[in-house]
Parts: sequence; structure tokens; C-alpha cells
Amino acid sequence: MEYARQPETGFYNAPVSMLHLLNHPLATHVVTHLRDRTTKPATFRTLAYQISLLLALEATRDLATREKTIQTPLEPHSGSVLSQPIVVVPILRAGISMVQPFTDLFPDVTIGYIGLERDEETAVARSYYCKLPPLGSKKVLILDPMLATGGSAVQAIKLVNAHRPADMRLVCIVCAPEGVRAVEEIDPPIGIVSAALDRELNTRKYILPGLGDFGDRLYGT
Ligand code: URA
Repeated sequence: MEYARQPETGFYNAPVSMLHLLNHPLATHVVTHLRDRTTKPATFRTLAYQISLLLALEATRDLATREKTIQTPLEPHSGSVLSQPIVVVPILRAGISMVQPFTDLFPDVTIGYIGLERDEETAVARSYYCKLPPLGSKKVLILDPMLATGGSAVQAIKLVNAHRPADMRLVCIVCAPEGVRAVEEIDPPIGIVSAALDRELNTRKYILPGLGDFGDRLYGT
């Protein structure tokens, strides 16, 4: 399926949900080095941090703010400060690599964890852990670097949705059209923010061109 990019918003039109791709030369630079099979785990972790920082900025572009009047050293000034609490929910284990940039930018963020493991034979995700803070009225960002079949993301979205957050978004580094389609079918629809939209999945459900197994590249396993 082809996705048409809306020039005004940068969002990709999809039937239900919205796919938003980072549009910055630094993002393509970092993703290219992440893809490179010669990139070693230590560098891979730094690159994962850098791309997640860019994603954190993009995924929070529409955060609510409230007016706040302060005094500069020279005069009163009517400024604005963040008013919407954020919860990040990494999908274990690879999603953990994306948390630090969010806590660096938003020190008040709270963190939930969802453990999903992909069966290598069937590529079906199995839930083994779920610990979520209160989510009502919060903006929830689910972190999953690789959106492949969408099996894990869809399970995580459903688990989070049961807690009725105010808003939810999926943040990925690389996604495949198959995964985007699976997320699009969820009701209510949620937005996806990603650094790259790749071509397809191979028969083992790895993303092509992709970057291999994100967790293995990250931890050197
Ligand atoms: N998970 C990964 O780590 N890589 C893929 O290509 C697909 C899922």
C-alpha cells in the first residue's frame, strides 16, 4: 500500500491511523548507521539514544501547555509551560533503549512496562509482564523500536487502552507496512511516529531492509 504524505502536516494518510515520519537529515544519517551491520553494540546504543531523542521531540510536538506569567530580570512575561503529564511505556526488551531520551527531556514522565516476547517459530507475541502507572488523562507514548507484524504493538495498545488514557501514540524507529496496517485496524485509531517506513517483511517476519534484530544489536547477544 502506498501512503500519501500531506505537505501541511507531514503526516502520511492511511485509511484509519496516521503515520508520521521524521523528516530530518540527521534522522536518516542515524538510521543508516543503525542499519549498518558493521556498527558495534556500543555505537548502536548511542545511535538508538540519538534517534529516540528526535522521536521524543516529534511525538510530543502537540503537547498541551498552559499560560504562565513570570518575571524576567527585566519585565513581566506571559509564557507557557507544559500542562499534560506523559507516560512512556516501553515494550520489553528493545523498547528500554528508547526510554532515556524521554526522561532526559521530560523529567516528570512516569514509566510503565509491557513485556512481550516474540515466538521465533510463529512470530506471535506472548505477554509475560505488564506494570502500568495510572493512565487516566495522561498522554501515553508506547515505545517499540521495530514495528514488524504489529503483533506486539497491537497487544500493547490494547493493554494500555483498557486503562483509558487521554491520548496514545506509538513511537518506533523502523516500521514495516504490514505493522502499520495492523495498527490502523485498531479502534480507536492511534498515531504512529517513526524514523523510517521500510519495504516489507521477509518470511521470518524481519523488516527489509531493516537493521536485523534490534535487541541483539543493542545488547550484543
Ligand atoms: N524485531 C526486530 O528486532 N527486527 C525486525 O526486523 C523485526 C522485529
